Amino acid sequence: MDQQAFESPTMVFCHACAKPLHLSAVACPSCGAAQRKSEALDAGESEKSKVTAGVLALLLGGLGIHKFYTGAWGWGIVYILLCWTYVPGLIAVVEGIRYLVLSKQEFARKAAAMQGPFAWLW
Ligand SMILES: [Zn+2]
Repeated sequence: MDQQAFESPTMVFCHACAKPLHLSAVACPSCGAAQRKSEALDAGESEKSKVTAGVLALLLGGLGIHKFYTGAWGWGIVYILLCWTYVPGLIAVVEGIRYLVLSKQEFARKAAAMQGPFAWLW
């Protein structure tokens, strides 16, 4: 990801051999490795989606699925253990609404800043 900062708008670097090649190249002319499409780079596919996280929280939040999705598997286990109390489900509805209210950038920034299984995304 850091590599992106050094790229010009039309040139990218082969992920296999690091030689520069044109953005539209589907394969590296040097080593033949298939390249990611530019649309995928623009969309930031590696980032967690706030919509996915929000919908998971609203539908399956009582089982902590949104926690596993955002990487907070410690909370996910806690949610599963307590799901019979319905408390995790209620918290998850609030979390789901919160995720959906956050802007895409805010959510991505918060999700990227999460560390460890008990990080709390809010
Ligand atoms: Zn290459």
